[in-house]
Amino acid sequence: MSKGTKVPGYMQGKGSRNPRGIIGDREIRYKCSLQNTILDVLRGRPGWQEVPGQNNVQQNVQTNAKQQGQQSTGQPSTNTGKAGSGTTSTQGTTSGNKGSDGDWDFYWCDREWLAQNYDTMFLYEHQKILHFRNHYELTRKNLMVKNLKRLKKQTEREQGKAEGLSFEFFPTTYELPSEYHIFVEEFKKNPGIIWIMKPAARAQGRGIFLFRRLKDITDWKKGEYQPLSDPNREVPETYVVQRYIENPYLIGGRKFDVRVYVLVVSYNPLKVWLYRSGFARFSNTRFSLDSIEDTYVHLTNVAVQKNAPDYDPDKGCKWSTQQLRKYLAAKHGVEAVKKAFKGIDNIIIKSLQSVQKIIINDKHCFEMYGYDVLFDSDLKPWLIEINASPSLTASGKEDYDLKFGLLNDLLNVLDLENRLTGKEKRVGGWDLLWEDGPILADDGNMECTPNGTTASIPNSFLGCHNDRKRQLRELYTAAQSIKKS
Ligand code: ADP
Repeated sequence: MSKGTKVPGYMQGKGSRNPRGIIGDREIRYKCSLQNTILDVLRGRPGWQEVPGQNNVQQNVQTNAKQQGQQSTGQPSTNTGKAGSGTTSTQGTTSGNKGSDGDWDFYWCDREWLAQNYDTMFLYEHQKILHFRNHYELTRKNLMVKNLKRLKKQTEREQGKAEGLSFEFFPTTYELPSEYHIFVEEFKKNPGIIWIMKPAARAQGRGIFLFRRLKDITDWKKGEYQPLSDPNREVPETYVVQRYIENPYLIGGRKFDVRVYVLVVSYNPLKVWLYRSGFARFSNTRFSLDSIEDTYVHLTNVAVQKNAPDYDPDKGCKWSTQQLRKYLAAKHGVEAVKKAFKGIDNIIIKSLQSVQKIIINDKHCFEMYGYDVLFDSDLKPWLIEINASPSLTASGKEDYDLKFGLLNDLLNVLDLENRLTGKEKRVGGWDLLWEDGPILADDGNMECTPNGTTASIPNSFLGCHNDRKRQLRELYTAAQSIKKS
C-alpha cells in the first residue's frame, strides 16, 4: 500500500474479495456517467451495485477535500501528482466518506467530470476510475503529434536515424496557426499533394476539409482567424493540417479505417492490453481523388457516413477485424498480414511511450483508448488518431455484442473481484501486449521461422479468433486452483 493511503473501515482486515463481486463485507459499488453499453455491462455484473444519485460523488469529493484540508495543512489536498512518478495520488482518510454515497469502488466517469474534480479529490486504496488526468496529451490531435515528434527526435539522437524510421507511421502534420509558416514552406516543396485540415479538439469528422491549393487555406484562414482583430471574439481554434493519405487500401473500391481497442492500466511501468476484436469502418461511396470536397468519400466516421443519402442502416458500413484479417490474408498471404498488424503494435507502443513521462500516473486510473488506423495500398498502417472516449453506443446487434464483451473483459482485467493471479497474459478477448517490455506468447504459440528454428511470437492477436467465454472459464478454473495451492 502506498504511503499515506488508508482504507475505509469496512475494508480493514477484510481485504479479500470473492467471485460474486463482494469487497470485504459488501458488494462492489459503481457509478457510471454514460447510458449505453457500459451501463448494461455494469448492471449485468453479478454482485455489483449501482450507487444511487448522480451528484453524490461530486458532493462527497468536495466535502472530503474540505475535511482533509482542515485536518492537516489547512489547504485542500489535491491530486496534482508528479507526472510519471508512479506514485498514487491517494491521500484519503476514512472519515467523512464512510457510509456516504461516495463509497464507490468503480467510476466510469466522463472526461469533463474528471477534469473538474480530479485535482481536488482523493481516492481510496480500492477505487478505480476511468481516464488519466491529462489524457489529452495523446487524444488531442496537435498534442499527439507533438509528443510523437519529440520521441522520434530523441530516438534518432540516442539510437540513430535508422531507429527513427520506426516512427514513420503518422502523416506529416503541423499545428495551426502556430506552425503556419513552416507548413507553407513544406507545402511549396510538394506542389499538388492533398492536405487535410482538422480541428485539434473536435471529433466525429466535424470541421474537417481537404484542400490542394494554398489559396483554399488562405481564404479559410481569413474567415477563421479574423477574430484576432476583434477583441470580443475568442482566440482562434487550434487546427492541425496533415498530409492526406492519397492511396488508401480499398475494398470494393471503398476506403476504410480500423478501430483498435487498447487498455492502459499503468503508465509507470507501462502496462498495455490489446483487444482481439474491433472493426473496420467503410465509407459509403467509392473512393476517388476527383471530389475532394465530398466527405462521404473521404471521411470514414460512422457519424458522417450515416448521413449519406444512400446509406443503408441494415447493411451498415462495418466489418469485424476478424473478417478484415481473413480477407487480407486470402488476398496477400498470412505473412503480409502479420507484418501489417505488427505495424499496429508498433504504433500502439510508440504512441504510449511518447507520453509515458508526461501522463500523470495514478494507480487508480485506467484508460481504454480507441485507436484509428488506416492502411495504405501497400498495407502500411498509419495512425490517424487516438480517442479516450471511443463510442460505446452500439449500431446493431453485432456491434453490441462486440462492445458488451469488450467492456465485460475490461472489468475482468481490472479484476476488482480479485479472482485472478495477476500473472495472466490473456483475459477473455484482451491480450497483454506490453509490461515494461514486450510480452511473448506462451510456449504453445511457438512458430517456425524460415531457417527451421522455433521462435516465440509476440502476444498480440488483433483480428484473431476471439473465443472469450471459453477462455474465461478455463482461466478462472486455473486461477482458482493456483490460489488454493
Ligand atoms: P475526428 O476526430 O473528427 O474523427 P479524424 O482525425 O479521426 O477526426 O479524421 C476523420 C476521418 O478522416 C478519419 O476516420 C479518416 O477516414 C479521415 N482522415 C483523417 N486524417 C486523414 C489522413 N491524414 N489521410 C487520409 N484520411 C484521413
